[in-house]
Parts: sequence; C-alpha cells; structure tokens
Amino acid sequence: MKIDTREVEERMAHFESVCRRQEVKLTHQRIEIFREIAQTGDHPDAEQVFQRVRKRLPTVSLDTVYRTLWKLNDLGLVTTIGSSRERTRFDANLNNHHHFVCNRCGYTRDFYSVELDNIKLPDSVDSLGKIAATHVEVRGVCRKCVDN
Ligand SMILES: [Zn+2]
Ligand SMILES: [Zn+2]
Repeated sequence: MKIDTREVEERMAHFESVCRRQEVKLTHQRIEIFREIAQTGDHPDAEQVFQRVRKRLPTVSLDTVYRTLWKLNDLGLVTTIGSSRERTRFDANLNNHHHFVCNRCGYTRDFYSVELDNIKLPDSVDSLGKIAATHVEVRGVCRKCVDN
C-alpha cells in the first residue's frame, strides 16, 4: 500500500529535522531505510525492509537494517507493533491510529477513529504502569484470506 507522496515528503522532512536536532548523521543508508518505511502502509518487519532496500543499497546488511530501524524507534521516528512471538513490525505513521491485523497472513493496515483515540481506560491500567499511548488492534481474517 503506497502512501500519498505529500505525506511521504512530510515524513522525510520530519526525519531529517529530528536527525539534525539529535545530531544523528544523515547517511545514505539511513535515509533509504527510513524512506522504505515512510512510503508504505504495510508495516514491514526488518527482514522485509532488508529485502526491499537491498535493490537500492546492494551492500547493506540485515544487521544494519535491524540496527537502523531500532535507532529510528529510539528517535521516535517509527513505532513498533507486534508481540514478541511475532517479528516486530515498523510503522512510520506517527498520527493517532489503530490497526487491523489478519491472523492468517499478517496483513496489517491502519484505520482511524476519534472515538477509539479518546477511549477511557479503566483505573486498573494506571497501577500497571505509565501510559504513553493507546492503540486498538482488531484481529481477524483479511478480505484476501477470506476469499481463498
Ligand atoms: Zn490475510
Ligand atoms: Zn500503523
């Protein structure tokens, strides 16, 4: 799923300004790895990002991709989804949003809901830890898997 060009440009500009502010070198590899995440709504994992950027960066290693993605996560430029059982997926959509995840093929897509953004959590959650963000994950079987 391709992201709107203007949105990709905004994500790239944000990426560059955060790197400058944090004094993180804007290397060609970092730019291409971030661009790969920024231009897709697929929520790819490190292996998938590696397969895709390899075409443009023939010398890149999976380890570099992995470390770069976690660095982007530390910088707040991407978020991660998935439990430890699954491979972690990376997401460059920093707006409030929620996910639909297919139980069969792992298809993961964003959806938006003001109601869910403002969901009231039970007080018991406070005793578990400090809340940074709330996102709803809808599990099911995607259209493509239903038809097969
Ligand atoms: Zn599916
Ligand atoms: Zn997402």
